[in-house]
Order: sequence, then structure tokens, then C-alpha cells
Amino acid sequence: MNPLLEFDEVNKYFGETHVLKDVSLDIEDQDVTVVVGPSGSGKSTLLRCANRLEEIQGGEIRLDGESISDPKADINVLRQRIGMVFQSFNLFPHKTALENVTLAPRKVRGLDDDVAEARGEELLDRVGLSAQLNSYPNQLSGGQQQRVAIARALAMDPKVMLFDEVTSALDPELVGEVLEVMRTLADEGMTMMVVTHEMGFAREVGDRIVLMSDGRIVETGEPKQFFESP
Ligand code: ADP
Ligand code: ADP
Repeated sequence: MNPLLEFDEVNKYFGETHVLKDVSLDIEDQDVTVVVGPSGSGKSTLLRCANRLEEIQGGEIRLDGESISDPKADINVLRQRIGMVFQSFNLFPHKTALENVTLAPRKVRGLDDDVAEARGEELLDRVGLSAQLNSYPNQLSGGQQQRVAIARALAMDPKVMLFDEVTSALDPELVGEVLEVMRTLADEGMTMMVVTHEMGFAREVGDRIVLMSDGRIVETGEPKQFFESP
């Protein structure tokens, strides 16, 4: 069986700067892969390439065996299958939590309003925000906004979720509530690729740790061997 998500000798340049160098990585269905490494090593770029926020210049990225890096691949279909959450929450400021979550399902998937709303309410309940359905982003804490962003990504029923330093902009006391939502998702079997500095999360929730340095994967392993090796 194919891995769910495959990076096959991926190369990425920004101008002359070679930021991903022959990166090959298989993400198995239901696995939580945590990508760690120094700032500037290419972690964020790797995730952004998987969501086609960046184009690659060599190699291929496949989902379910199908190329998603091919310029002819439909970006809208692809983004329904790969959800992404960012460091900055990127919510629509003039829409409520529920409207943020239902917008894409209505516009992109063409769901009826009542179907999209029922599903949106269910997802916001799942991230612990059933009391905040009608709140606007500026009425929510950073942790609550990030949980709305997670619910919004889940609303497209993605096969894979990408998390790019989603707790890095949060006050320390709000980090736990977001990690808890991610942990629950992992327990439910969501396939996840997570860039984070939260080593506790990496150790406890990660199935596999991938260490990047200067645009390359320099080590991969299970959290146990990774964190306990001398
Ligand atoms: P990390 O997530 O590991 O901190 P990034 O993927 O953000 O690393 O960055 C990898 C390298 O690519 C860095 O040298 C960074 O400066 C460069 N880079 C990232 N985005 C761009 C961009 N849009 N234009 C030019 N260089 C970029
Ligand atoms: P993060 O660590 O969350 O990736 P960065 O500060 O590295 O944030 O990057 C923020 C934005 O700036 C990203 O869109 C990234 O692609 C872009 N960027 C990063 N490095 C460079 C660079 N050297 N030149 C141009 N854009 C860059």
C-alpha cells in the first residue's frame, strides 16, 4: 500500500537559495509526524509545498499515490484533501466563529447552509467552543481563535492536516488547550504533519520525529529513540 502522503526527492529554491534539498519522506495513514529542526531549516516550506502554497522545482509530492505537485493538479481539490493551520490564525475578522467554519464548505463544497451549519456547530463543539459560535475573532482569545482555525480546516474533511507552529504565537497559558485539541485529533486517527517546538507534544503524541537541518532530513526516528538516545 502507498503511504498516504509522499515527498519524493523534493527540491525547492527561493531564487538562488536552495531551501529543500532532495527531501524524501513518507507519511503513513493515521501517523503523526513531527518535524523539528533549527529556524530556517525548511520545515515551514516543506509543509507549504504540500499544500501548494509554494511550488517545487524538482521531485514530486503525492497524496494517495497521485501527484499533487504537478502544476496541472487542481489546487482547490487538493486543498480540500489537505487542511492547514498556521501560526497566525488567519480568521476572517468580520465573520463569526461559525461563519468562519461554514464559509468554505458552503462556497467550495456547495453544502446547503443548514447542513454546513450543523456540521460547523459539531466541529466547534469538538474543539470546545460551542458557547462561542457567534463570537467574532476579536472577542476570542488566541487559543480560542486557533481552535476555530482547526475546526475550519476540519470542515473540509481533509485526509491530512498540516500544523505550522500553531502554538508559537500564543501566550504560554493558552498553548495547552490547542495541543489538547491536536492530541484528540491524533487519537481519533487523523494523519498529521506537525512543525512545533513543543517537545512534550512531540514525545507524547508523535509517531515519528523528523529532524531537518539546512534543507535536508538528517534524522528520523520514533520519539523514544529520538529523545532518549545519548
Ligand atoms: P523553518 O520553518 O525551518 O524556520 P523556512 O521553511 O521558514 O524554515 O525557511 C527555510 C529557508 O527559506 C530560510 O532560509 C528562509 O529564509 C527561506 N525562505 C522561506 N520563505 C521564503 C520566501 N518566501 N522567499 C525567500 N526565502 C524564503
Ligand atoms: P515562520 O517561521 O512562521 O515560517 P517566517 O518569519 O520564517 O515565519 O516567514 C514569514 C513569511 O515570510 C513566510 O511567508 C515566508 O515564506 C516569508 N519569508 C521567510 N524568509 C524569507 C526571506 N528570506 N525572503 C522573503 N520572504 C521570506
